[in-house]
Amino acid sequence: MRIGVLAVQGNFREHAAMLRRLGAEAVEVRKREQLQGVDGLVIPGGESTTFMRLMRLYGLDEAVGEFSGPVLGTCAGMIVLDRRHLGAVDIEVDRNAYGRQVASFEADLTLAGDAEPLRGVFIRAPRVRDVGPKVEVLAELDGEPVLLREGRFMIASFHPELTDDTRVHKRFLELVREESHVRA
Ligand code: GLN
Repeated sequence: MRIGVLAVQGNFREHAAMLRRLGAEAVEVRKREQLQGVDGLVIPGGESTTFMRLMRLYGLDEAVGEFSGPVLGTCAGMIVLDRRHLGAVDIEVDRNAYGRQVASFEADLTLAGDAEPLRGVFIRAPRVRDVGPKVEVLAELDGEPVLLREGRFMIASFHPELTDDTRVHKRFLELVREESHVRA
């Protein structure tokens, strides 16, 4: 499996390392042509305003909009995919909405269908304020969604690439596998 990691800014190296650990091929994507031939795409955390600016500059906003495979967006990557930005996922988010003192923190999350808690690293994380009817919640923190899925899109407000726990990336690769069978 070949997974593109958007590498204009942010935590792309950590995502690529995690994907390689799980046996996937990870390719850094900086130009739109590099999206050709990848089975899935990761949009990492970083700074969403910078992301949007650089993506527009390189035509990657359009290219990502045209990409038809599964996409994993984490933190700033979640913001980029929301209603107000690329409009790929039917959610409304508030940037940096966990408050100043607790802007960055770690918490144990309950993952749907899994008894073992998942450690979530939140760094100036977006907070999900509204979700559309087709959005599935895969993990919550204090009753609010932090890991979600809508069709081929998976989004997390935390940073699964910063712990040793590979379960979020594993689920994403399963989604990529399923979707490539569907498309084949
Ligand atoms: N605060 C950043 C933003 O609004 C997101 C933080 C992150 O990706 N770690 O874009």
